[in-house]
Amino acid sequence: MDLELSAQDLEFQLEVRSFLKDNFPEHIREATARTATVFVDAGPALEWQKILVEKGWAVPSWPKEYGGTGWTPTQKYIFSMECARAGTPGYNPLSLSLLAPVLFGFGTEEQKQKYLPRMLSGEDYWCQGFSEPGSGSDLASLKLKAENQGDHYILNGSKLWQTHAQFANKIFCLVRTDNSGRPQAGISFLLIDMDTPGVTVEPIITMGMDHEVNQVFFEDVKVPLENLVGKEGEGWKCAKYLLEFERGGGSSAHIRKAELDHLKDIVADIQSRNPEFNDDLHYSKTIARIEIDLKSLEITELRILSALAEGKMPGAESSILKLTTVNIEQRIHQLAMDVIGYHGLPFKQDDIGPDYASTVVPTYLNSRAASIFGGSQEVQRNIIAKAVLGL
Ligand SMILES: Cc1cc2nc3c(=O)[nH]c(=O)nc-3n(C[C@H](O)[C@H](O)[C@H](O)COP(=O)(O)OP(=O)(O)OC[C@H]3O[C@@H](n4cnc5c(N)ncnc54)[C@H](O)[C@@H]3O)c2cc1C
Repeated sequence: MDLELSAQDLEFQLEVRSFLKDNFPEHIREATARTATVFVDAGPALEWQKILVEKGWAVPSWPKEYGGTGWTPTQKYIFSMECARAGTPGYNPLSLSLLAPVLFGFGTEEQKQKYLPRMLSGEDYWCQGFSEPGSGSDLASLKLKAENQGDHYILNGSKLWQTHAQFANKIFCLVRTDNSGRPQAGISFLLIDMDTPGVTVEPIITMGMDHEVNQVFFEDVKVPLENLVGKEGEGWKCAKYLLEFERGGGSSAHIRKAELDHLKDIVADIQSRNPEFNDDLHYSKTIARIEIDLKSLEITELRILSALAEGKMPGAESSILKLTTVNIEQRIHQLAMDVIGYHGLPFKQDDIGPDYASTVVPTYLNSRAASIFGGSQEVQRNIIAKAVLGL
């Protein structure tokens, strides 16, 4: 495969760079850089999203008739690479990157017409209701009961770990509509209004002291039958399709590269402030190792890009990406913790120590969760063993 960008692609890259330089506001860049959690708060992210919508670049992966750009996979890769370099926030990826493909693949025309424009405009903010107490890796064991009552379902049970459910006005859920056969065959995919009577959200505060995740309870919640995506019992098929996008299909090497560059700046700053700082080659060696792994991550992403360019889906290889990017992310944040030392102690206080110290510890703590969400590292290894290595 050819890893060099063509003259046209290089020209496109310059166009994207110049757009970002002229249109990406500094206050949004700062808010994004200060964010330790996976998702940037809806406010600044939505402000940026609106600028992208106006330009027509908000959802490059969507089909053109719904607002997509019609770019080639290489152009999409370049765009996401340049956005990572510039430090732009992603807006509600649970809807734009995960739910939208499911609607394209399985939704009715009415569902597409109703929900897609509202995702783009920010009128709807979605959260994802897959995991439950006792059903995470073993997702097929989920129990949230949805009884078909003719023209509606009645839901009882709960979902666990819903990211940003406190901001969301909608949730897409996997629910149990049948218990008789294989567990996977009794699962359906439902779209639910969060303000339906009987839906309640309880916050979960993480060890980084962030309110990012929640538990969502359903008590006799009435959901119209028209909110079913695909056929009843097809929820597993929709979920498998969606999870391939959650575990890859994008480009994360450049986000990690930006994090590593930030770490290098921190090391340089500490070295300049502290003449006794003795690297002992520890930091330089670790950074060099991370850089090598980052290069191989980038090559793997380009391999997948090349498959996408030929019209193939991101397959089980997306598990390799998830495994590798999380490993690199956690090593970068671990090293940042080592480097800042005692400056990390008063974490969450901006006015003590160098500016960057206030985000290092929360980012490190938050990054621990990356080996769990979107399918744990062990589960990714199982997928690679079976589907990639054929073991
Ligand atoms: C920060 C965060 C945000 C999240 N956001 C969302 C969200 O928005 N929506 C949503 O639906 N879910 C969300 N999740 C849930 C996430 O998808 C689950 O936590 C994840 O799938 C793991 O499930 P579990 O927590 O039940 O752990 P378990 O499945 O109980 O796993 C516990 C441990 O056992 C290991 N394990 C389990 N099965 C195997 C196996 N077969 N082989 C080897 N090891 C195994 C796991 O790797 C893990 O180390 C989020 C989680 C976190 C931490």
